Amino acid sequence: MCRTDLHLRDAEIPATKLPVVLGHQIVATTPDGVRVGVPWLGWTDGTCQYCTSGRENLCVNARFTGRDIDGGYAELTVADERYCLPLPEELSDQEAAPLLCGGLIGYRALSFTGDAERLGLYGFGSAAHMICQLAVFQGREVFAFTRPGDERTQTFARSLGAAWAGGSDEAPPEPLDAALIFAPAGPLVPKALEALAPDGVVVCAGIYMSDIPAFPYELLYHERKLRSVANLTRRDGEEFLAVAPKVPIRTTVTVYELERAEEALADLRAGRFEGTAVIVP
Ligand SMILES: [Zn+2]
Ligand SMILES: [Zn+2]
Repeated sequence: MCRTDLHLRDAEIPATKLPVVLGHQIVATTPDGVRVGVPWLGWTDGTCQYCTSGRENLCVNARFTGRDIDGGYAELTVADERYCLPLPEELSDQEAAPLLCGGLIGYRALSFTGDAERLGLYGFGSAAHMICQLAVFQGREVFAFTRPGDERTQTFARSLGAAWAGGSDEAPPEPLDAALIFAPAGPLVPKALEALAPDGVVVCAGIYMSDIPAFPYELLYHERKLRSVANLTRRDGEEFLAVAPKVPIRTTVTVYELERAEEALADLRAGRFEGTAVIVP
């Protein structure tokens, strides 16, 4: 389960096909016995200016699993094998599923921070709990920002190697070289810029965000950068799934039976679990 499922469920991002079966982090076995991952990028045209320049994540005719193509909240699904990802044997189905969106798009967001040493993570949910482990593995110093007063999640972040954890209303003890924003809250953008050292970058990693409030130009000046991340390429998937078992990235999962999918969405909306919810048939 991914927060995008919830945004689709709540009509915060438009569904292009209704009804649609949600779910774009599918771990499944093909009829000929191969275990594969089916990610959000379900199909591209292969011919547009983005596809032909290594940026298939921006394909103008892209079709996405669980939005344009029926997804994984099901016993059976149909996927184009060219977009399925190989899964490392070391990972169980439940460990692998969260890597397929939050992990993967988090990986793409992290790649836009270059060799930034001091990394802020705003919103410490599914994606951040995986990217924190990878960033620590790469020798970066991680600063985790949670909802103010959410000590449980701050403790969780420290247990995964974060050097510091606090509320998003707090300033980090040192300026950040980069910040990734996973929470869908626009007011975090000026907050993150405020915490940033000159030439730092803020990367918005979500598909949806509430409006960003106006902020003084001073926060962006000194060559600070603000950008977003959209979707993934198959290359991101292959690279990330290769490195994940080396870290190794441990995913914290809460398991729901398929019949309880709506309850799982409600729990995600209310922030009632740590890590990622996984739906099993
Ligand atoms: Zn294309
Ligand atoms: Zn997703």
